[in-house]
Amino acid sequence: MNQKQIAIIGGGPAGLAAAELLSLSGHAVTVYDAMPTFARKFLLAGKSGLNITHSEDYARFTTHFGAATARLRPALEAFTPDDIRKWTAGLGTETFIGSSGRVFPTVMKASPLLRAWLKRLEGQGVALRTRHRWTGFADKGYVFETPNGRSIVHCDAALLALGGASWPRLGSDARWLPRLSERGVEIDAFRPANCGFVVGWSENFSERFAGAPVKSVTATSEAGTFPGEFVITGSGIEGSLVYANAASLRDRLLTHGSAALTLDLTPGRTTERLARDLARQDAKSSFSNRLRKGAGLDGVKAALLRELVSDRDRTDPERLAGKIKALPIPVLETRPIGEAISSAGGIRWSGIDDGFMLKALPGIFVAGEMLDWEAPTGGYLLTACLATGRAAARGIEAWLQR
Ligand SMILES: Cc1cc2nc3c(=O)[nH]c(=O)nc-3n(C[C@H](O)[C@H](O)[C@H](O)COP(=O)(O)OP(=O)(O)OC[C@H]3O[C@@H](n4cnc5c(N)ncnc54)[C@H](O)[C@@H]3O)c2cc1C
Repeated sequence: MNQKQIAIIGGGPAGLAAAELLSLSGHAVTVYDAMPTFARKFLLAGKSGLNITHSEDYARFTTHFGAATARLRPALEAFTPDDIRKWTAGLGTETFIGSSGRVFPTVMKASPLLRAWLKRLEGQGVALRTRHRWTGFADKGYVFETPNGRSIVHCDAALLALGGASWPRLGSDARWLPRLSERGVEIDAFRPANCGFVVGWSENFSERFAGAPVKSVTATSEAGTFPGEFVITGSGIEGSLVYANAASLRDRLLTHGSAALTLDLTPGRTTERLARDLARQDAKSSFSNRLRKGAGLDGVKAALLRELVSDRDRTDPERLAGKIKALPIPVLETRPIGEAISSAGGIRWSGIDDGFMLKALPGIFVAGEMLDWEAPTGGYLLTACLATGRAAARGIEAWLQR
């Protein structure tokens, strides 16, 4: 076989997934990463439990990628959540389905899986090069900064899997963006996804309740109504229930200049029942007592009402019941992208062919979070990164065989 040289630049889940497939075809594959070790974000994801995919019905699974669903579908179909579970098991990491349907390794962490994966890649002949930062193009090759100085790599095809723009200190710093846009690659500005929001808390509230979890509530935005929990922070709100609504809140802030996350603090009780129970309370007793006895609310939930409802709402049982069932938390802006779990925006699909090759730069392929798609937390991000890495590998294979 005519062995080809393939450079994979970016050793996160997308790049490593591509390397695994391409090396099986007998190509000479080298993975380059700017950092001293590979897949740092993947490892960090494992710190709080690596949610590698989701077990829900596959048709529903594919609805979480918004406008990018149609372009992602062939890649996802070729590496489904079931395939991911078989793949991790093949690497010695069994998985389980959590109560929410999310899939985790039984050990929760990412490190054993990553170790076994890198070992497999080396066993398949993949050369692994860390501390190689790609800095641009020169002499028909790819320029890298390395501890030994500048080096230029020539290859038959390259995959860029450089990640998005969140958590830049883990490697994905989006510094590649001008290098591609000056070569005609269209890129949508990165925006925070699965991010926290700034809220104009009073000093007293943020001092007393920063770090407090708000549990067993539902939260509504234009994205829908979701049950779950979130956390009050010194500057605003964070956590899974906020992330589920984050894309919708972020986009509304952009289009309307204002947005609010609406909470139901007592999902099990009707407004009418609450209004009746509140009306029975002694009007002279304190707001806290009326909330505790009439609505079963205290702690941070009662504090949220004290912080956000008007005096008039406090004294009128029907109005107060309405606020308990639909309490808007006005959000002022997203927290910075560097703190977000993931990013929206990236290389536009219109500039990528069905094999994940850049139309403006034939021979250069792209995969992972650097493409223009976003998804909520729940294992969708890693699934799509792994799936697009493998799809780009197939694209490279087909292109090299032309
Ligand atoms: C705290 C946190 C928790 C998360 N938890 C989950 C989770 O449980 N489930 C889930 O599905 N997703 C999770 N994610 C998201 C998931 O980790 C990312 O979507 C995924 O890692 C993106 O994969 P990628 O390969 O596209 O990019 P990355 O993982 O970002 O990898 C890109 C690689 O490219 C390298 N690179 C960048 N620029 C250069 C350059 N110029 N030269 C050479 N190398 C370069 C980087 O060093 C990096 O190693 C989490 C993210 C965070 C931050």
